[in-house]
Formats: sequence, C-alpha cells, structure tokens
Amino acid sequence: VNEFDVIRRLSGLLPPQPDEVIVPIGDDCAVVRLGDKTWAAASDMLVEGRHFKGWATPEDVGYKAVAVNASDVAAMGGTPRFVLVSGAAPDAETALGVFAGVAEACRELGVYPLGGDTTGADALAVDVAILGELEAAPVLRSGARPGHLLAVTGELGASAAGLLALEGGVEGFERLKGRHLRPRPRLRVGRAAARLGAGAMVDLSDGLASDARRICEMSGVGCMVDLDKLPISDDTLKLAARLGRDLGMLAATGGEDYELLVCAPERILGETAEAAEVPLTVVGEVTGSGEVVFRRGAGVVEDLSGWDHFA
Ligand SMILES: [Mg+2]
Repeated sequence: VNEFDVIRRLSGLLPPQPDEVIVPIGDDCAVVRLGDKTWAAASDMLVEGRHFKGWATPEDVGYKAVAVNASDVAAMGGTPRFVLVSGAAPDAETALGVFAGVAEACRELGVYPLGGDTTGADALAVDVAILGELEAAPVLRSGARPGHLLAVTGELGASAAGLLALEGGVEGFERLKGRHLRPRPRLRVGRAAARLGAGAMVDLSDGLASDARRICEMSGVGCMVDLDKLPISDDTLKLAARLGRDLGMLAATGGEDYELLVCAPERILGETAEAAEVPLTVVGEVTGSGEVVFRRGAGVVEDLSGWDHFA
C-alpha cells in the first residue's frame, strides 16, 4: 500500500461532496468557493527522522513547513494567505524556535498565522494547514494534453544535493544546503501560469520522475522527458561529482526542489517565464501514448521513480 493507494482508499470513505467544493482531494490543494472568493486548501507535515534530522534547526523546520505548503498553493496558481500551525516538540524552547521560523516564512510570503496547537513529544513534528486565494481558475494536475510541452522552473537536484551534503557532513555548499533547508515556493510563476491559462501544474516535491508520472496519470496522457535537458547548477554538478553520484538521477528523482512543473503550449510557457521573470526550461513533451518515457542520450531509462511516503 503506497501513498496513492492510501489517498484512493480515503477518497472512497468521503461523505457526499458539498457544492462549494470545486476540486476535491487528489491535487496539490483542494479548492472551495466561499462567498465570491475561491480558496485553495492543503496541509503538509514534517516529522523528525523522516523529513529532517539534527542538521536542521527548529527555525529551519518551521520555515520549511510553511514554505512547502505555500508551494502547494503556488502549484494551483494561488496566493498563500493564512496558515494554522500545529506541532509536537520535546521542550518549549524547541517549540519557540519552530515558531520563529514559521513567523519568518510568514513575513516573507505575506501569510498570516491564525493559530494552531502544540503538545510535548519525543520527536519534533510540525503540521501546517494553509489557505490560499485564487484570482484565476486553478491549474489542475489533470489538464495536460498532447502537444503541450513540459517545463520546469529554476533548477533541479539542488535540494537533493544539499541533503547529501548535510547528511554527509560535507563542508561548504551552503547554497545547496539552503535550498534543502529553506525552499522558496514559485508563487509568481504559479500565478502567471494560472492567469495565462497553463494546462496542468504540480510542484516538484517528490521528484520530477514521480511528479510527471502523476500529472500523466491524472490527465490520461503520456510524456517523453529528456533527462539531458534538466536544468542543473554548477555547484550541484560539482558536489555530485565529488560524491560520485549520478547527476541525472539526482535531478530526476531527488525531490524537494519545490520548483513547478508546468504543462502548456510553447507560447504560454514563454509568456509565463517573461511575466514571472523566472527561467522555465522545456524538458519534454506530453504525448497521447499513455506511456511515460524518460530518455537519456540515445537510450531510455527504465523504472525511474521518486519518493514514496510509505516506502
Ligand atoms: Mg504538491
């Protein structure tokens, strides 16, 4: 039973869907219409030992918990507005550190914390629930169509490289460590993509390989991704070489980059990149085959997948 089976089974237990629910469970956020406004709602939890270890300060954990939720709002094309933050911490000082990080992220992202709950526990855990406002129709995972191109914002593999540096106690590579500890959600790109009518969008939390697969499943399409086209920075390349890691695999399956994967016609991708002033790199195309193919050089890479939360 993996994460998707769990979501499928939970969906079978839901009561009848109220009229206000526009997008139910299964996308980056659910979408509800309340009054004359449309809201994106999601929650995401970080747990010590599973998502972070001693190399992350409580402040980092609080910051990241807000940032990854804001990233889910970005993936719908929304603006994050409010959070509820709950957590468990071994002592009051740790809990205060977490909230300092939460407050810092909230200030940076223009989000207001409405409340939450704290309790004592051996391991640190933080759960954030977020509400984001939508000004345009939400961009779903199910809107990819043959003829769309697949593009990603920024760079891939930096967070996974940063994690390797943190885990291995590697000196330096502070930028990469920062990308892992304090990701920056792509809010401007998300909003621009929604306003300009992108077909489908997801934030890259689990790695391009698995997130692209998810878009294809939900859209009933296939795709061809060229691993040689993934945008990778020089410091990621340098660290991967030093640690003897396969750079393409790191970028395709590493996860936690919190970049956006956007599926749209070429013109909309160009306009989105221009409006948001963020580079979008075309890494592949949507196909009607139903197959998800990852190419590298002249060959095809089999069995490429990302992070399974219950693995
Ligand atoms: Mg997401």
